[in-house]
Amino acid sequence: MSLRARLTLLYTALVGGILLLFGFAVYQVVSQNLVRQIDELLARTATELIASTQYTALGGLNFRPVPDLELTTNVYIQVWDRGTDLVFSSSSIQHLREPMAPLDRLPARPVYRVTSIGGTELRVLSVPLAAGRRLVGTLQIGANLAIVHATQRTLLVVLIVGTVIAMTVAAIAVSLTTQQALVSLQQATDIALQITRADDLSRRIPYHGSPEDEIGQLILAFNQTLSRLENLFQLQRRFVADVSHELRTPLTVIKGNVNLLRRMGCADEDSLISIESEVDRLTRMIGDLLLLARVESGKLPIVEEEVELDTLLLEVLEQGRVLAHGRVDIRLEGIDQVLVCGDRDRLKQVVLNLVENAIKYTPEGGEVVVGLSKNEAEACLLVRDNGPGIPAEDLPHIFERFYRAEKSRTRSGDGKGFGLGLSIAYWIVRRHGGRIEVRSAAGEGTTFEVYLPLYRVRAELSPQRSAEH
Ligand code: ADP
Repeated sequence: MSLRARLTLLYTALVGGILLLFGFAVYQVVSQNLVRQIDELLARTATELIASTQYTALGGLNFRPVPDLELTTNVYIQVWDRGTDLVFSSSSIQHLREPMAPLDRLPARPVYRVTSIGGTELRVLSVPLAAGRRLVGTLQIGANLAIVHATQRTLLVVLIVGTVIAMTVAAIAVSLTTQQALVSLQQATDIALQITRADDLSRRIPYHGSPEDEIGQLILAFNQTLSRLENLFQLQRRFVADVSHELRTPLTVIKGNVNLLRRMGCADEDSLISIESEVDRLTRMIGDLLLLARVESGKLPIVEEEVELDTLLLEVLEQGRVLAHGRVDIRLEGIDQVLVCGDRDRLKQVVLNLVENAIKYTPEGGEVVVGLSKNEAEACLLVRDNGPGIPAEDLPHIFERFYRAEKSRTRSGDGKGFGLGLSIAYWIVRRHGGRIEVRSAAGEGTTFEVYLPLYRVRAELSPQRSAEH
């Protein structure tokens, strides 16, 4: 059974049930009220009649009915003497020779009964007539219950018809409102299925209702999931395209050299060197990719040890000077003694990558400046160059894997860069609880700053960080 049918059934049954209970209560109260009113009328009439009754000295009855009562066709009177002889009978039941209700031998007090005479239901009040302490007869006053039954029937019809109408209205209202809500859900389901069938993650589910309601929230969450999936798929596609692209060049070079060797029929030293260098390049790239995958997913074990960042920087400075071959000037701007907590080899890899990039992208005669400072909470390691800078459109992407600014792409004839170094650096710094920032503009040089929590601060944060991973 559909959700809509179930909801409609539930609410209709609920409305019906409540109205039936309510109707039953109303029916009972009205019926009791009507009978009570009749009983009061009978009691009043009895009082008036007893007042007008006289008794002879021998206990005989001298009954004089009140004229008004004689006219009331709905009230019937019978007076019976002690010997159960009919002494008086009101005109409308002159023909009736039986008592309206059984005569009790010694009715000590008034008794109300419901009796049926010739198919007519009567409410009968039997009152003992007494002269002093002596019982001399019985007065019976009856009232027709037809009016009570007629009222009860009308009430029943009104209640049943009312309940049926209310249940029908409730069913229609619930069905319409749930249809409105469920139409959006049905649309969402249809579009989700179309997306799956067509494999088109760029589609979104439209919703015209309020984004605050439950369905709006559901569709919003679903659309957000689609956006995220779309991004992930795009990233994955780009990654595969990038890897294939990066693999093609060295493989083409290797294949060309192998063909050459085959044609020559002997081992040519240049071709062997070229093959070896391309194989090295491939090995480096695959190593970088593996490292990136592990550090990104948090699976790369990071040793937590005391690292003297100043000593580490001086070592990198030396290596940088060797790498630069005097092509660019490498200068130390200022160095504080700084202790951080982390993996020395990985941190060195980050700093070396920044210095290497600065040397690589700065033209001959340029200057690379490194420095290390600290405040109460963190260390700041700086690598600045006065090279060509990074264009504004490339700047937001340089930490993405395989991203290389357009100029670097075309002039990477040195065959060294894959566009992975900064991604790895970004993730290593992040795993150390730090951040890496870059400031640059085309033609104005580039400044990288690495912020790392100091040893003491990191140690305090450590339990929380390990809980995150
Ligand atoms: P690559 O192996 O290409 O150097 P990276 O991830 O280290 O890869 O750097 C990504 C890109 O950022 C580089 O291709 C280059 O375009 C740009 N870049 C990095 N450092 C500098 C710098 N100091 N000066 C200018 N451009 C830089």
